[in-house]
Amino acid sequence: MEIAKRTENGSGQCVHLCRPPPAPDLPMQHRGADSGYNALAPPRAYPAPSLPPAPSRLLPSDLPAPHPPCPGSAAVRSPGSRFASSLRVLCSPPRRSAVFWRPWIDDGGEKEQEAPHNAVEAVPLKQGRSLMDWIRLTKSGKDLTGLKGRLIEVTEEELKKHNKKDDCWICIRGFVYNVSPYMEYHPGGEDELMRAAGSDGTDLFDQVHRWVNYESMLKECLVGRMAMKPAFPKGMLPQSQVTDTLAKEGPSSPSYDWFQTDSLVTIVIYTKQKDINLDSVIVDHRDDSFRAETVIKDYSYLVHVALSHEIQEDFSVLVVENVGKIEIVLKKKENTSWKCLGHPQENHNSFIPKKDTGLFYRKCQLVSKEDVTHDTKLFCLMLPPSTHLEVPVGQHVYLRLPITGTEIVKPYTPVCDSLFSEFKEPVLPNNIYIYFLIKIYPAGFFTPELDQLQIGDYVSVSNPEGNFIISQLQELEDLFLLAAGTGFTPMVKVLNYALTNIPSLRKVKLMFFNKTEDDIIWRSQLEKLAFKDKRFEVEFVLSAPTSEWSGKQGYISPALLSEFLKRRSDTSKVLICLCGPTPFTEQGMKMLHDLNFSKDEIHSFTA
Ligand code: FAD
Ligand code: NAP
Repeated sequence: MEIAKRTENGSGQCVHLCRPPPAPDLPMQHRGADSGYNALAPPRAYPAPSLPPAPSRLLPSDLPAPHPPCPGSAAVRSPGSRFASSLRVLCSPPRRSAVFWRPWIDDGGEKEQEAPHNAVEAVPLKQGRSLMDWIRLTKSGKDLTGLKGRLIEVTEEELKKHNKKDDCWICIRGFVYNVSPYMEYHPGGEDELMRAAGSDGTDLFDQVHRWVNYESMLKECLVGRMAMKPAFPKGMLPQSQVTDTLAKEGPSSPSYDWFQTDSLVTIVIYTKQKDINLDSVIVDHRDDSFRAETVIKDYSYLVHVALSHEIQEDFSVLVVENVGKIEIVLKKKENTSWKCLGHPQENHNSFIPKKDTGLFYRKCQLVSKEDVTHDTKLFCLMLPPSTHLEVPVGQHVYLRLPITGTEIVKPYTPVCDSLFSEFKEPVLPNNIYIYFLIKIYPAGFFTPELDQLQIGDYVSVSNPEGNFIISQLQELEDLFLLAAGTGFTPMVKVLNYALTNIPSLRKVKLMFFNKTEDDIIWRSQLEKLAFKDKRFEVEFVLSAPTSEWSGKQGYISPALLSEFLKRRSDTSKVLICLCGPTPFTEQGMKMLHDLNFSKDEIHSFTA
């Protein structure tokens, strides 16, 4: 992979995957005949729900579509979006520590061990109700829906009737599940599930863990799809009105175009935003399917096509920041003229709130695994050569592995390969690797499986998520980081970025909470960094130290914080980042508010 930078009316960044870049300024011979695809497939304001993995007995695609295919009617929303509004009325407001659809936590039946602090919200499950027990039940062939293998279309009226514990249907993104058999297995408890009984649970689900792989987990509970009435009669809402509607709610809709020379095809995305970077666009090319997702604030713009001709594996991505233009330069396999770019695929040319998009995964290869502490390892994964993905500072991804036949997903925060990798120009093959510091819990569900992977094995990695915004660091004078255990992981890139890119920065102080000295991740690197860069200070606090420990001891407390968080002046710009077990983060937030730090001065990392 090579990196190049170019300027067009200002600055630009470019990453070339695998080979030297084609000259971006080459004169274009022809313009694509179907530029914009508008004649083929008008953009939709909302995506149609994607199908969950189909139960073996009957495919959901055997059902009529939840809304009729009406190419001109961009206003038809996905069932999930449409019912979301009625859900707000039906459901009580989310609790801060809502545990609806919590990720799986074993009940201690097969994997017994002391409850961690972060398991306080989990409801104790009965014996025989662990994730493993659920997987066994779903594979037993038992009829879990009560429909004898049929899939049906569910009307709103019908859905509402199934609102009792022993007859509970919930709609998620347009698909209806009978969750009664699952009640006792739900780590968040039956009451949490009942909050969405007989209604659309999409919003509730999204508020807590939209990444939980419910399609796989609940595939045997699938009842069918929602029967939809189109929100507007076919063809009522012209395309321009769709754009206007979106513009009122969020940023204005991007557009795209394409051009070609004898050997190259360039797809240009006009984002209509200035603050676009190389990490704003994620490109995946697999077989003939080409997918470029651009993230603009909380929205996602997707170019998704089945290419009409073959291309080479390597491509380059160029961002012209000051005009908000992204160019993706593909190399043709054969030097023929393309009549069209290809055929639109699901959600092509859509611009929708990010929370309404599904997570896209690609398979990455494990290339190394190194011990960091007695229980924490540095994993290095390699992206496929036909992917462009850079995880923004402060964001996480989801790793997905099949465990006993079910796809299990957990979030992890990429780090740098060391504290000394600086945020300058990305160096040669650096941005095809993603590093993770991961603690292996011997009795955990996911991490022992991850630890079993051999070099060369694959794990699926999602697109990034998270609400940290890099502009929070602009003009910062004091940055305070409060981390407990692997809560250190988001701090790595934040710290590195701030020290390298924020000229106003006066001090970065990390207070790092661990049980013992042996648990401290990258201790010697942290100490070296503090020695090398006088702006950086680190303080370790141990909850279970040996008698030799002369440093700070105990837990996060107002006394520790008020001593640690010394701002230079009342007006100096300060940011405090917190991450660790949920109760640690929640207690820390409360203490910071009590110490009169404002909401804007605090960022807590959570799922
Ligand atoms: P789990 O099965 O979740 O169990 C964890 C521990 O709790 C085990 O010891 C288990 O035995 C115990 N336990 C579980 N349930 C119970 C119960 N009912 N009673 C008693 N004990 C129980 N982790 C990292 O290491 N690195 C990261 O970069 C990272 N990034 C994250 C980013 C985000 C946004 C979030 C939310 C979490 C992140 N995590 C990270 C944590 C990670 O997602 C997993 O939660 C973690 O790896 C544990 O997964 P597991 O399935 O192996 O363990
Ligand atoms: P750990 O070793 O169990 O705990 C680290 C330190 O925090 C220990 O000193 C521990 O004290 C202390 N601690 C734990 N709970 C506390 C509480 N309620 N109040 C005060 N101190 C507390 O941590 P870990 O196993 O590495 O777990 C890290 C956590 O961070 C996980 O829950 C993970 O999900 C979370 N995480 C979140 C993100 C994110 O949201 N972006 C990223 C990474 C990790 P004890 O001696 O009492 O255990």
